[in-house]
Amino acid sequence: MATVTAPRRAATPQIRQTQLFIDGQWVPAKSGKTFETINPATEEVIAQVAEGDAADVELAVRAARKAFDEGPWPRMDARERGRIMMRLCDLIEAEIDELAALESLDNGKPVSDARTGDIPLALDALRYYAGWADKIHGQTIPINGNYFCYTRREPVGVAGQVIPWNFPILMVAWKWGPALAAGCTIVMKPAEQTPLTALRMARLAQKAGVPDGVINVVPGFGPTAGAAIVKHPGIDKVAFTGSGETAQIIMRQAADQLKRLTFELGGKSPNIVFADADLAAAAAGAHVGIYLNQGQCCCAGSRLFVEDKIHGEFVERVVEQSKKRRVGDPFDPGTQQGPQVDRAQFDKIMGYIESGKAEGATCAAGGRRVGDRGFFIEPTVFTNVKDEMKIAREEIFGPVLSVLKFSDMEELIRRANATTFGLAAAVWTRDIARAHEVAKRLRAGTVWVNCYDVFDAAAPFGGFKQSGFGRELGERGLDPYLETKTVTVSLDPRGA
Ligand code: NAP
Ligand code: MG
Repeated sequence: MATVTAPRRAATPQIRQTQLFIDGQWVPAKSGKTFETINPATEEVIAQVAEGDAADVELAVRAARKAFDEGPWPRMDARERGRIMMRLCDLIEAEIDELAALESLDNGKPVSDARTGDIPLALDALRYYAGWADKIHGQTIPINGNYFCYTRREPVGVAGQVIPWNFPILMVAWKWGPALAAGCTIVMKPAEQTPLTALRMARLAQKAGVPDGVINVVPGFGPTAGAAIVKHPGIDKVAFTGSGETAQIIMRQAADQLKRLTFELGGKSPNIVFADADLAAAAAGAHVGIYLNQGQCCCAGSRLFVEDKIHGEFVERVVEQSKKRRVGDPFDPGTQQGPQVDRAQFDKIMGYIESGKAEGATCAAGGRRVGDRGFFIEPTVFTNVKDEMKIAREEIFGPVLSVLKFSDMEELIRRANATTFGLAAAVWTRDIARAHEVAKRLRAGTVWVNCYDVFDAAAPFGGFKQSGFGRELGERGLDPYLETKTVTVSLDPRGA
């Protein structure tokens, strides 16, 4: 049974940045207000953070606008931009233990995950896009007539970036990487639950030589600071990761100015296990697929489809592994699962667990709170789940797996696709033709075959359907930060 060990104080990192970062300065909010950020493992307050709102966003947009319209960043040699981004990565790497501890303290994720997962992936993304900085260029196009036609790829302008709390540093990297490489400037709002590491990253960016005004970070709340970013006419493009509900609000608010939008939203991703799969590998994949990051992953494999022939045996493996998962102090190197990020998420997840029980699913593992301090939840497996149950349809964003049984391929594809989401999917089989067939027919932005949660900065990530639009990472991830300009030059000596 899962236990909670007492958090170790010795690992507590220093909190250095708690103010807004605007135009290269650390400043309090104009209103003078602050808000608390808490440690979800202990429910104790970590720090008071300046609470930005529309007045502060105004200053941040002015700084970003000036840095874009007049400053050196979009004008400098592209290779120099890449060098500065590489320098930022070196500084992150030099502070990796401190950053991992800060991330763990604010978010609750095991420090070992932050140290070996989140931050290396963040470095991967930033370095990958640093490499792109001097490789962004247009084409020459042979149009009809006596013309020389070419395209230029130019930065879209000031990017407003609103990010969630589940992977704070990684989201900073995924957002800053392509924006900086393209020559854009940035106004970012981190999530209210996890503002600390975005502020530390801003400090490192400044040290690396990113000019003042290029990156501005305004912690605060969604409906105030976030909405002000979305509505501000000085922002050219909004990149958002979070819930579909918030994305709808943002789309409506951005409509007036036809702002460019990219959204990376939630999912209810099918993880499909055929009877011929390597069952040990598939069970390990099912485990990681749902429980990584306390289940707070947009691409969590939360619908586990298991072929009927192996259902009993496979569920046994999954349940056994769930019961062995070590839940506890995020600073204990042996911990695999920390607390959920806050009380609201904890309550929401416990509500889904209750609804699963009430709708008649079988709770085969977990289902309860762990301990009485901090937002810890047992790794939970529901069997006998029906497609129409809430736990099979809605994004839970917690350590709760729904197991569904299937018997035939056509039925499987139909059920796997019967969701408004389309972020990710996985299929486990030794039959190579079937693997490709399923990969082709699933309506999802990412399909993993015989693996799960494999990310690489070079591979695009994003959603079909209501899981979002636009792609992050890879070459496609640059597109939202670039405009294409077509230049047509008459080669007629009379200048026609
Ligand atoms: P959320 O409200 O969508 O929050 C994401 C970000 O948007 C936060 O920075 C938030 O600010 C901001 N925001 C909220 N309202 C806004 C508005 N009107 N205008 C501009 N920005 C706004 O998500 P949540 O409430 O934290 O979590 C709710 C659910 O969303 C989760 O249970 C999960 O299902 C889903 N979610 C998905 C992802 C993902 O990676 N796709 C990440 C997180 C959550 P605040 O700090 O004030 O909230
Ligand atoms: Mg919120």
